[in-house]
Amino acid sequence: MRRYPDAGTALEYDDPWQLLVATVLSAQTTDENVNRVTPILFAKWPSAADLAAADPEEVEAVVYSTGFYRQKTAAIVALSVDVLERFGGEVPDDLDRLVTLRGVGRKTASVVLAEAWNRPAIAVDTHVKRVSRRLELTSETDPRRIEGDLRALFPEARWAGISMRVIQFGRDTCMARRPRCWDCILEDLCPYPYKTVE
Ligand code: SF4
Repeated sequence: MRRYPDAGTALEYDDPWQLLVATVLSAQTTDENVNRVTPILFAKWPSAADLAAADPEEVEAVVYSTGFYRQKTAAIVALSVDVLERFGGEVPDDLDRLVTLRGVGRKTASVVLAEAWNRPAIAVDTHVKRVSRRLELTSETDPRRIEGDLRALFPEARWAGISMRVIQFGRDTCMARRPRCWDCILEDLCPYPYKTVE
């Protein structure tokens, strides 16, 4: 918490709807790529109703540079239809309803809940999984179970702040290959057997 006082998603957004769409677009690409596209996307189709009625070919042209543009277009249009038809155009603010939206898994839903609403939620991505396992905060491999172990370890008031900090730590210190253990503040506590201490 102290090392990453302002950790948050690098995705730029004005409201939960925009973060939800941006998070779906962020699969397999960088947040910077998404941030270049979303201002154009939301200027052209500001609401779920607008995007639900959009011509998919026009949407594809806008999201093209984020990769997998056909799948991503289909996903955000379907998502828009669901938000419009089932929730009156408003993104639901709880996990159970969020995950009923097409294309929205538990990880995406948790990012939106924690970041856009500061609700207690822990998103488990590849970084959270790797770091949690190395530190033996969990022995699980299934993201849902890892999330359960992390929920049990931390008070609910801290949940929203966990994922983005661990992701940042996983990117700058505890990388998948050659983690910077010699420069890690948790080195004394970390039981990972393959530490790289120089
Ligand atoms: S000591 Fe190494 S493996 Fe353990 S948390 Fe730090 S960087 Fe990761």
